[in-house]
Amino acid sequence: MGRMKAFIPEVICEESHDLLRSVADVKLGGKGRKYTEEELMEEVEDVDAVLTTSRHHFTKKVIESAKRLRIIAKYGARPDNIDIEAATKKGIAVTWTPNTNDDSVAEHAISFMLALIKKLPFMMEHLRKGGWRSRTKTVTNELLGKTVGIIGLGAIGSKVADKLKSFDVKALAYDPYVSEEQAKEVGAEMVNLDTLLAESDIVTVHATLTESTRGLIGEEELKRMKKTAFLINTSRGPLVEENALYKALTSRWISGAALDVFSREPPSMDNPLLKLDNVIVSPHIAAWTEESLKRQAVMATEEVVEFLKGKRPKHVLNPDVLARLTDRY
Ligand code: NAD
Repeated sequence: MGRMKAFIPEVICEESHDLLRSVADVKLGGKGRKYTEEELMEEVEDVDAVLTTSRHHFTKKVIESAKRLRIIAKYGARPDNIDIEAATKKGIAVTWTPNTNDDSVAEHAISFMLALIKKLPFMMEHLRKGGWRSRTKTVTNELLGKTVGIIGLGAIGSKVADKLKSFDVKALAYDPYVSEEQAKEVGAEMVNLDTLLAESDIVTVHATLTESTRGLIGEEELKRMKKTAFLINTSRGPLVEENALYKALTSRWISGAALDVFSREPPSMDNPLLKLDNVIVSPHIAAWTEESLKRQAVMATEEVVEFLKGKRPKHVLNPDVLARLTDRY
């Protein structure tokens, strides 16, 4: 049997490619290039492994055109760019890299907290416009002693709570699927949603998006918050009703908001939330740090390397495929 072949459409981390080269010949795609379905069909035809980001779509047609492909490793979150059903039928394992960006997103949420209470965007604007002398007319706040409400105490929400310990805040959490003991471990107190909204100075959303959490924060919830409070969403846009948020911010039901995610992405440039001076935004970038990208690339590559050596990958989304390969796994 000749040397194995791997295809990586997008260069993410050179170091991880070197690791892969120890077991396979590697073909790298162009930086920033997005492959069409036809191009991908050609690329995967005679490779054993693919490592991909979410930008390239491994459709049924692409997967069916692969003659010897055995594993597709996706960097980062659960893939919505890979037809897992088609891969399973074809005996191709699909892996992902869970928890590799939890710290990045948690830090982003905490950066939003600090930027909001320190009024950083406003202060920057003020200074740039020559406002040095009048700088003390605006007073900012400390995070110390504030109450932070965390909606969704999963991987990222728990990291937020844990990291906030050093700021001496009171952390409240609402998550119907997490026990009081689990919350205690990360220094948070479990409360119901109404209490969290009414008592928090900052509410940060980290729940998963499902049909039941869509619109979790709407007019009623925003009205329950303190007038001085801030809302942060680094989870998924549709968890917060944007029209209600706009109303809350312009009617001063709440003091401000920070958003990394939007109901429609990319948001329209006419989205009124982008124009408010009590809103901080970032372009769904919380997870996109050098460190998390490297972590993802290394983990995805290790999965492929181990798999090509005949070992069981750790994070397989379609384990049925492995069960069928009982002689090896
Ligand atoms: P997770 O699955 O570990 O945690 C989600 C938590 O939400 C779970 O504990 C779950 O019990 C809870 N939950 C479910 N329904 C709820 C409800 N009705 N009310 C309150 N909590 C509820 O997920 P995670 O890895 O912590 O990710 C959290 C969110 O962050 C996800 O929506 C994910 O898509 C998003 N995310 C965003 C970025 C970004 O770049 N901005 C990056 C990674 C993840």
